[in-house]
Amino acid sequence: MNKYEITIDRFKKLNYENVLLIDIRDKISYSHGFIPNAVSMPENETDFSRSDTDKNKIVVVYCAIGEKSKRIVEILRGKNITAYNLKGGFAAWLISNDNILSKEELQRYSRQIILPQIGKLGQENLKKAKVLIVGAGGLGSPCTLYLAAAGIGTIGIIDGDNVDISNLHRQILHDTDFEGQKKVLSAKQRINAVNPFVSVITYDEYILPENIGSIIKDYDFIIDGADNVETKFLINDACVIEKKPFSYAGVVGFEGQVTTYVPKKGFCLRCVFEDIPKDVQSCSSFGIIGAMAGIIGSIQDLEAIKYIISAGELLTERMYILDGLTMQGRTVELKSQKICKVCGENPTIKNMKENKEMYIRTVCKV
Ligand SMILES: [Zn+2]
Repeated sequence: MNKYEITIDRFKKLNYENVLLIDIRDKISYSHGFIPNAVSMPENETDFSRSDTDKNKIVVVYCAIGEKSKRIVEILRGKNITAYNLKGGFAAWLISNDNILSKEELQRYSRQIILPQIGKLGQENLKKAKVLIVGAGGLGSPCTLYLAAAGIGTIGIIDGDNVDISNLHRQILHDTDFEGQKKVLSAKQRINAVNPFVSVITYDEYILPENIGSIIKDYDFIIDGADNVETKFLINDACVIEKKPFSYAGVVGFEGQVTTYVPKKGFCLRCVFEDIPKDVQSCSSFGIIGAMAGIIGSIQDLEAIKYIISAGELLTERMYILDGLTMQGRTVELKSQKICKVCGENPTIKNMKENKEMYIRTVCKV
């Protein structure tokens, strides 16, 4: 170990009154959590010629993981200041002081916890979050894997289908060994292998007007990974009625589209289409390239995470459309409609069960 480094254990034994603790991370990271008594002095704004750097105190400097702060310690030593680098930085301190997240979890997520948009609080919120994925297929596969890897505490997954060999070119949740077996069992095993800290709730059934309300009510965010238009409208209507945020997506061939609905913010599918389109080609008649489902499903994952950690700008009031052949992407702005049948001022669709006939669909085996 560098002779000017101090371990977390030794640091904790110091008398804090004799220590000037300096956090050189950026202001956003500092605002999301810092070691008690630390003063914020971002690396690029550091001015150690200031008189408030009390030369009678030991200076301990830390950054996110204890690397950038080494250079600052060298500068301070050059000024004859007794300075030490906190080994492992803020991440090491988190690991030694956490209750909600175990030491193993903090190590597992350390490369995203150091992001200023996430931090310790964001990671705790990810652990507290419950996300439901409707459909363990092409969209649900990448979305589920990244949600699990990111540390979403509870993942619900609903799908009544079995794994078919023709699924595997895009449905990367499932392995060849699971051909003919239930998709939810395959998904659960895969999620547990990716991240054993995730609680997985499986629903070996199709989402229907009769069950959707009782299932989605327990979740914070819903992922529409369905492969047919009737189910997409069912998810849309139920989420609007139950006031649940959700991400809609669709992929055909090399084209994909994705948007996010948050209650009272953004448009819903019925604002655009009003009724369920009747002339949509059947799900078995179009092809799909797996990578497009991977890209669009990963965007849905990103939307869920952004919603949970309150970062960035969601795709509300916008739909992102990507042509995978040309890599031309465009974002179309769309507004909610006051005359919408489900999210408008005088909705006519208020109950899923009363309108269940409209959601009758063909069960897809693609
Ligand atoms: Zn609407």
